[in-house]
Amino acid sequence: MDKLKEFEVWFITGSQHLYGPETLKQVDDDSSKIAQYFDKSAKIPCKVVFKPVLKTPDEITNLCVEANTSPKCVGLITWMHTFSPAKMWIAGLSILKKPFVHLHTQFNQDIPWKTIDMDFMNLNQSAHGGREFGFICSRMRKNRKVIVGHWKDKEVVEKLDIWMRAACAWNDWQGMKVARFGDNMREVAVTEGDKVEAQKKFGYSVNGFGVGDLVAYIQKAKPAQIDDMMAQYKKAYKVTLSKKQLEGVRISAKIEVGMRNFLEEGGFKAFTTTFEDLHGLLQLPGLPVQRLMADGYGFGAEGDWKTAALVRAMKVMATGMKGGTSFMEDYTYHLNPKGMKVLGAHMLEVCPSIASNKPSLEVHPLGIGGKDDPPRLVFNVPQGSGVNVSVMDMGNRFRMLINPCKVVKPDADLPKLPVARVVWQPEPNLKVAAGAWILGGGAHHTGFSMALNSEHMVDFAEMADIEYLMIDKETTISDFKKDIRVNEIYYMLKNGLV
Ligand code: MN
Repeated sequence: MDKLKEFEVWFITGSQHLYGPETLKQVDDDSSKIAQYFDKSAKIPCKVVFKPVLKTPDEITNLCVEANTSPKCVGLITWMHTFSPAKMWIAGLSILKKPFVHLHTQFNQDIPWKTIDMDFMNLNQSAHGGREFGFICSRMRKNRKVIVGHWKDKEVVEKLDIWMRAACAWNDWQGMKVARFGDNMREVAVTEGDKVEAQKKFGYSVNGFGVGDLVAYIQKAKPAQIDDMMAQYKKAYKVTLSKKQLEGVRISAKIEVGMRNFLEEGGFKAFTTTFEDLHGLLQLPGLPVQRLMADGYGFGAEGDWKTAALVRAMKVMATGMKGGTSFMEDYTYHLNPKGMKVLGAHMLEVCPSIASNKPSLEVHPLGIGGKDDPPRLVFNVPQGSGVNVSVMDMGNRFRMLINPCKVVKPDADLPKLPVARVVWQPEPNLKVAAGAWILGGGAHHTGFSMALNSEHMVDFAEMADIEYLMIDKETTISDFKKDIRVNEIYYMLKNGLV
């Protein structure tokens, strides 16, 4: 949580000179009180900075210029205490690059029925001031979150918290570097995509590195660094391994030292690997990837850079929250009509941030890739609510699929399964969820989180200005197909709208 406190959300209030200095002073005071309340709230992750009330087009434009260029500012909360004629906002909103939320609130919760007079009415005009602002945002086709309710309302604070987390992740993507060790798994479609378009749309860059570049870093790992890594493993995990297996773990530790140095020196926040390109590596990196994810790196297997970036964003959003976030794959189904569920896992690379127990460090053969047996952490995941998210390149646009789920206990122990695993029931049920996911072209890889919910992802998709399709309790296949068809037309026409 503290990490997100270094980021600022600016509290912006719109008004005009019409009301005179006394009223404007009151507007300033009230706004500063609300900003302070949010800033001090333990439920609000970012620093909330009060900005003096905006009364002219120039003040608004200057504020937007300042917000665009402030590295700490991740977004704006806008509020219309009074009426703020919205043509004043056109120039500012035209250039504003940061996400914003329209807080449709009012300083007083209740109407003071017995004392209300015209002065009160003139001061507290959010009900129609907010509508004027809403019009210009809609007229300009601006994506923004609208939150309605009194500012002390628990739900209002919760919605702001969610939006701020998404804004921090969006800020994190701007200029982010993703390292791709090797290329894509050969012939795989969904992990491919337009990296130039992604950089334009999302702000992050993806670049490939020969595995030999990574191997050079691994060779430079010093015995003392490897010893230190081994000591960390013994402390953090259940380790009951043979001498020979421990030698394999030592090789893994060496890989981890090299990977960490490569990523840190290059300033990368996410990375991909592929088991088809391991030249010079003795093992497919399993344990190192799991541990790097636990430290906040985004990861995608088989060259999946979109999921690597997504996992990183979800980890930023989930900072300080209960429940972990991991790279995930729908692996196999339980299709029993008495309770259909998905078993999610990957060959090795599941993040221990979602573990329910102390992970067990194990070494098993991997029937793919033709390398040494790779060490990996094996664990279960606690029951609770989660969400699976996927981003695909549909050719003319990026699409996000969002599917909340309920993580359940496996029906029995899985003593022979040598990987970390999660068992979940997707909303509304497996048949509709998997059917819709497939119709939506959803990838087999996802970002999975037990900290976040679908609202975090919707806010994020709207900041990125991409299509999202929700698969939840309300979803029917027939409506879902309609959404896809309508979106197909919408996104084709969108560029001509404004
Ligand atoms: Mn995979």
